[in-house]
Amino acid sequence: MQHATVIATFSRRMRVRLDDRTEAEAGIKGKRLKPVCGDRVVVESLPDETDWLITAVDVRRNELTRPNARGQAEVLASNIDYLLAVAAPEPRADWFIIDRYLCAAELMDVDAGVIFNKVDLVDGAPPAELDVYRRMGYDVVTCSAETGMGMDAVAKLLAARRSIIVGQSGVGKSSIINRLIGEDVQRTSEISDKWGEGRHTTVNSVMIDLPGGGAIIDSPGVRDYAPALDSAVLAAQGFREIRAAADECRFTNCRHLREPGCAVKDRVETGGISPRRYESYKRIVNLTRQLTEGRY
Ligand code: GDP
Ligand code: ZN
Repeated sequence: MQHATVIATFSRRMRVRLDDRTEAEAGIKGKRLKPVCGDRVVVESLPDETDWLITAVDVRRNELTRPNARGQAEVLASNIDYLLAVAAPEPRADWFIIDRYLCAAELMDVDAGVIFNKVDLVDGAPPAELDVYRRMGYDVVTCSAETGMGMDAVAKLLAARRSIIVGQSGVGKSSIINRLIGEDVQRTSEISDKWGEGRHTTVNSVMIDLPGGGAIIDSPGVRDYAPALDSAVLAAQGFREIRAAADECRFTNCRHLREPGCAVKDRVETGGISPRRYESYKRIVNLTRQLTEGRY
């Protein structure tokens, strides 16, 4: 028996890194155990096999979750230090999606950054929206995975910690990772199909070591993202400027929607809080209400 870290997942097959740094493939004991990329797990070697068996998952420091079709939280990755949300001019930046990722980062209590990739396609100034994030204290970097511009700054954000890269499909996440590691990420055939779980060998989530010492998790599950919240009340915790203003609301249980004496709404009107961010907040509240009907 020893400890390992899950570094790639494919359905019920995992790639793990043992504590002596060697890598191995592992199955999972029982149906209830659901390891994800980033997990610390207990593995046991199987007699007469090169394979290992995951028999337990350690308590997670944090989890990135999203609601599944039935509104239950599904864990996408765990034990993360930093969330890197990527936007680009093409496909057109959807700041509401960026806000949903940042909301998740706040609730996981991890730092986050917004990067605007493909600046080579932009004439003139990058979007003013980036300043909104910068003013709130998020790291903001503009870059081009194509030309290499700004990539040093991206690498700095990722050094010596475990990040997860998120963003709409096509914004350049794979290109950014490839640029950082200087080669093509092999997403496919990393996991053998030995146990006949299907012909597709494309991994689900993968953790890639970076030259700067950190590691980055790439998970297709985060491409169309909304955080899984147990209650709409939590949405306010996911917006740092709303959290900061909430102390001054007349009611301690103010939801910042229609209540009188709401400091959040005041700040939206006087320019202290971006109306678009406030709209983003309300959308997350509504979404969470739909998913948790009757609980709020
Ligand atoms: P992902 O879906 O987020 O992983 O995006 P990809 O890395 O697959 O990139 C999507 C497309 O955008 C590809 O055709 C890339 O070549 C292109 N792309 C990525 N980064 C840049 C960039 O900085 N500038 C330009 N012009 N194209 C880029
Ligand atoms: Zn309020």
